[in-house]
Amino acid sequence: MTNLQQTLDQLREALGEAQVLTGDAINARHYSDWTGHAPACPAALLLPRNTDEVSAALRICNAAQQSVVPQGGMTGLAGGAIPRTSDVALSLERLRGIEEIDAASATISVLAGTTLQDIQQAVHDAGFLFPLDLGARGSCQIGGNIATNAGGNAVIRYGMTRELVLGLEVVLADGRVLNLMNKMIKNNCGYDLKQCFIGSEGTLGVITRAVLKLAPQPGETTTLLCALPDYASAVSLLRRLQRDAGTPQAYELMWQDFFRTGVSWLENPVSPMPDHHPLYVLLESVASREVLEQTLEAALEAGEVVDAIMASSHTQARALWKIREATGEFPVRLAPLNFDISLPIGQIGDFAQMCRQRLEQQWPGNHSVYFGHIGDSNLHLTVDCNSLPQPAPILEIEDLVYTAVGEMGGAVSAEHGIGLLKREFLHHSVSPEALATMRQLKDCLDPHGILNPGKILG
Ligand code: FAD
Repeated sequence: MTNLQQTLDQLREALGEAQVLTGDAINARHYSDWTGHAPACPAALLLPRNTDEVSAALRICNAAQQSVVPQGGMTGLAGGAIPRTSDVALSLERLRGIEEIDAASATISVLAGTTLQDIQQAVHDAGFLFPLDLGARGSCQIGGNIATNAGGNAVIRYGMTRELVLGLEVVLADGRVLNLMNKMIKNNCGYDLKQCFIGSEGTLGVITRAVLKLAPQPGETTTLLCALPDYASAVSLLRRLQRDAGTPQAYELMWQDFFRTGVSWLENPVSPMPDHHPLYVLLESVASREVLEQTLEAALEAGEVVDAIMASSHTQARALWKIREATGEFPVRLAPLNFDISLPIGQIGDFAQMCRQRLEQQWPGNHSVYFGHIGDSNLHLTVDCNSLPQPAPILEIEDLVYTAVGEMGGAVSAEHGIGLLKREFLHHSVSPEALATMRQLKDCLDPHGILNPGKILG
């Protein structure tokens, strides 16, 4: 009997036949994540139903030095959940459900396989807001959100997932269960171990439960579209809003090329304002219309804003958002090579200009579009590979962009993580000493290297 066969027998005994699938019984959605990169049928798929079963599975795999790839909703954009044929995939989809909403603490305790949307709905019904929000909400799981430290639409006001997690339960590679299910805001009892697992992309432990922080439901929001003369104005308008009207709920900066592309894809492709301005910002605020009008007037006087529309109805607000949501059409209308990068806020404008110049120098006439959650220091840049010589020089483009990110002291991943796809570029943003410390942490928590090998660190 092979090693793998013995391990599978032990897993079946511990978890039950129905929790250990192989071959054709494994649904193809476990072969790759949203990127569709390098799909592979894992050697087995484990479907544990509770923490004890996760613990038993890892204890067995660790003893056999069998590699394990944790899988959430498979919506990741960095290849972190993609298995190899020799890996065992461990899906959290059966660890699903809400354990408790504690109104006094303003927390929710959940199992890791619960979808983000189910959490948002339950929290909404209880009169609170769980502010993490992203396009994949219906499929992604909170365990995956935590493992990737997901960002999303509301980071500017509520922070990344890390800021929304108060407690965790994690199963270590050897099967030990770490109960860190803290509900308290203040808790300075030694090292905050949960932070190691947030953003660790399944390489340090398997997240099985979490305590999340809730926020009050926001009041009515107002949507504005503003045209801006330059990048410096985008930053000063943001700071003005924060000072005079409170931090906006969203602050989405679109460069002219993105704005024009978004408008041209509308059902009725008519721009809501002239499209010759260098930049447009779509923002949402809970401040009163009166305060927003005063703030806008001051920004117009200061020359930070050159044109503006304040949506007067939900329908008009939705129509403005449609321009920004052009990103949803990228996979069908373009051959997109997407970059999710971070830079110090003051340098994003210069970076975009430099990057565009370098791309143009190398591949004249290429089409690239830029937009950013600049309040979160996050820039998304998409190069349309259809506008490049074929086969598209993907590696060279990645190298050009990530080298520029490194030169400006930026981060090669802002919110999607490193996974498999950005591993080779991590050194642009992380020093050799920091990489070596990450490796030491990995070796300490997972000495046999069974958890998600090849992800983040290679
Ligand atoms: P998976 O893709 O299954 O896994 C992601 C990583 O987490 C893998 O490394 C996996 O091994 C690990 N993992 C999963 N579950 C666990 C667990 N329980 N314990 C330990 N490790 C685990 N991301 C953003 O940050 N911001 C966005 O705005 C955003 N928008 C998106 C929009 C769309 C339409 C799509 C498809 C994706 C978007 N994403 C976004 C990316 C993706 O949704 C997030 O990375 C999400 O957090 C992944 O969750 P998941 O459950 O699908 O994880």
